[in-house]
Amino acid sequence: MKPSNKYLKGKVVLVTAGPTRESIDAVRYISNRSSGKMGYALAKAARDMGARVILISGPTSLPPGPAHTKIVRVETASEMLKAILKNIKNADIFIMAAAVSDFHPCASHAVHGKIKRSKGPILLKLKPTPDILKIISKKKGLKKNLIKVGFAAETSSLISRAYQKLKDKRLDVIIGNDISRKDIGFESDFNEVCIINKDKTLIKTKRLKKELIAQRIILYLLDKTN
Ligand code: C5P
Repeated sequence: MKPSNKYLKGKVVLVTAGPTRESIDAVRYISNRSSGKMGYALAKAARDMGARVILISGPTSLPPGPAHTKIVRVETASEMLKAILKNIKNADIFIMAAAVSDFHPCASHAVHGKIKRSKGPILLKLKPTPDILKIISKKKGLKKNLIKVGFAAETSSLISRAYQKLKDKRLDVIIGNDISRKDIGFESDFNEVCIINKDKTLIKTKRLKKELIAQRIILYLLDKTN
């Protein structure tokens, strides 16, 4: 059965997707592996169920996001945070599917020109980017029942690490996915996830197309909005 386009009528869903990019110099950057497919699929699933969707996207090579969604393009973690703060006030569901770079080159490296090739090694000094979910979890003035959802991409101890992240970032739900597998995640059109609630209950999906995983996740969250 196709999910109804009325399920999320009147609700606002804010989704982030894709990687962020942190400049080293005029031509180089550090980033995370992420196609953005999962976040875009979540935005589409929420839109199809009647929500007003805002998609905040890092740089991806995907076609423009789903029609009838507000799309905000950003590059860095700081820009992503700014865009979220600007758009989150009326949100009922906030899904942080973006693969935010955890590090940003220190200002001294972010030169305007191009760092010249050198014979010896060069040192790159990095500082942490803002932990967006932690900041949002402490933010005042958001909707009382805002549902905050994070992703945990892990190579081992998926469930325990994901649950620890849920607690650290004070989330309601976390979606764990195993990035050690070649047949799901990253560039793939498929994923297999566990949806973990703050009360420790969890649901495991099968390996499915990201569109179907996205529908499962949105249907799961739908239950919590009422
Ligand atoms: O990078 P990490 O595994 O901790 O990411 C877990 C969750 O935290 C993801 O939902 C990611 O979008 C979010 N995150 C964030 N700010 C960062 C890094 C990650 O909100 N600087």
